[in-house]
Amino acid sequence: MNSVRLFVVCLCAGVLLATARSAHAQEPIADLIFTNGKIITVDDRFAIAEAVAIKGERIIAVGKNQDIAKLSGATTRKIDLRGSAVIPGLIDNHAHFIRAAEHWHQEMRLDGVTSRKQVLKMLADRVRGAHPGDWIVTLGGWSEEQFSDEPRGFPLEELDRIAPANPVVLQAVYNHSYLNTAALKAGKIDQNTPNPLGGRIEKDASGKPTGVIRDAGGVAFVAAKVPLPDRQRWTENTRKLVADLNATGLTTWLDAGGRGMSAEHYESYTYLADLGQLNARVFWTTIRQPANREQVDRVLAEIPQQKPFQGNDYFDNVGWGESLYAPVTTQLLRAESNTKPEDMEQMRRLALALAERGLYVNSHVEMAAAIDAFLKEYEAINKERPIKGLRWSFSHLDQIDEAQLERMKKLGMSAQVHSRPLIQGALMHKVHGDKAWDMPPFRRVQDSGIPWGLGSDATAVTTANPFYTLGFAVTGKMVGGVKVNRQTITREEALIAHTRSNATFVFREGDLGSLQKGKYADLLVLDGDYLTVPADSIKDLKPVMTIVGGRIVYDAKKL
Ligand SMILES: [Zn+2]
Repeated sequence: MNSVRLFVVCLCAGVLLATARSAHAQEPIADLIFTNGKIITVDDRFAIAEAVAIKGERIIAVGKNQDIAKLSGATTRKIDLRGSAVIPGLIDNHAHFIRAAEHWHQEMRLDGVTSRKQVLKMLADRVRGAHPGDWIVTLGGWSEEQFSDEPRGFPLEELDRIAPANPVVLQAVYNHSYLNTAALKAGKIDQNTPNPLGGRIEKDASGKPTGVIRDAGGVAFVAAKVPLPDRQRWTENTRKLVADLNATGLTTWLDAGGRGMSAEHYESYTYLADLGQLNARVFWTTIRQPANREQVDRVLAEIPQQKPFQGNDYFDNVGWGESLYAPVTTQLLRAESNTKPEDMEQMRRLALALAERGLYVNSHVEMAAAIDAFLKEYEAINKERPIKGLRWSFSHLDQIDEAQLERMKKLGMSAQVHSRPLIQGALMHKVHGDKAWDMPPFRRVQDSGIPWGLGSDATAVTTANPFYTLGFAVTGKMVGGVKVNRQTITREEALIAHTRSNATFVFREGDLGSLQKGKYADLLVLDGDYLTVPADSIKDLKPVMTIVGGRIVYDAKKL
């Protein structure tokens, strides 16, 4: 009897042991585990965890150290965070980085540089490292007002002294460019050159170009003079640009294309994505900028052939934007609205065709009058072909009011709002007066309850660093420290708007934007705690490690 009982006990224990073992066998072994951290998950409850486990491309668990430790095996790489903060990889909902790759090897970026003296030193260093004739350019991303020591531009004589043998172009915002004599010569710009469309070549009393070329058309005219790289260089530029962005904390962005975009601009990204070597997730919208009825007719013939979502989670087209019809595209530094009825009619033809095709559309809209004009057309289109399920969005919305936000909500629309006053804030106050304090109205948009996200609009009209955008939304201070915006939001609201909310703009909310089981392992280990550093220091936060799809794509070797 005893032996029978013992046998039964043994049998039960055996079953229990086997059950325990099979349960354990079903638990996956992580490839990479981060422990002892402050994991800011940005999930729906904004939960904070200690550890995260990654297998392959995805997160398999987030939680307490001891629970995550159970997923560790012989092959698991373990990284002790020693208290470091971790946040989801940052997603920019509006950037022009595909275009930015073309000249990246020639660009001397001034993102965040607050001293004019420092710029001159940077230029002298660049010249020393360059061959005679090499171009040195800065295609936007800065303004004179960000220099705290001497807020002014760069006269031709000064540039000539530092760079006698290299063409130099320093483009401020998308507003004007400073050239040296070598650049004027290389660009064949002299006293006989007529003003380009929408631009002005500044000339002295004797008719000689001063080196300053003004307005959007002038800036584009100058940028087009800079020689394009060959295919190999372009691909290397793309790798370098993505690496630079990874180092600032960007892992995903929605690319709005831009002026002068061609198939070549997309080639290097497609090439790297196909090789599995694109270290960021790049989603993009098709851009055409017809400027008259005939050009609209041609685009209308193209729309029924559009097929978004044929790519993968590293490179994919998601729809159409940001400028539908060129004549109604507004500019932030011009107060007047240019939404003439006959032009809005062309815009409506395009928008209706895009709705009929069922495509996502993002439109660039800034001032109050333009927002009204677009909403009126969209409301009419919605009666003909409902757009509510298509996630249409407006980008920028610098002057949106409560009533307009309500109208957007009724149409199922969402809002992309940007940190452009970081470098344009002082200029915006000159153009728009006191209204500029509320441009863009982050607080109003947040409180309206509309789905919305943060982005930059980099690289020409603002800096690319996402921590500058987060810092701006929280402090309202431009690069250099001057306060220009009073519609600030909390740092938690800003982080949600730069991560989880932006995942919806790229149609990947199930995969991106928060640190949760099942989502892609896109995350940043930071050199400071985003939730507790002084607000003015948010802009200075840097990743010490950036992970995209479980791969370490940037490592400052500080862990
Ligand atoms: Zn825009």
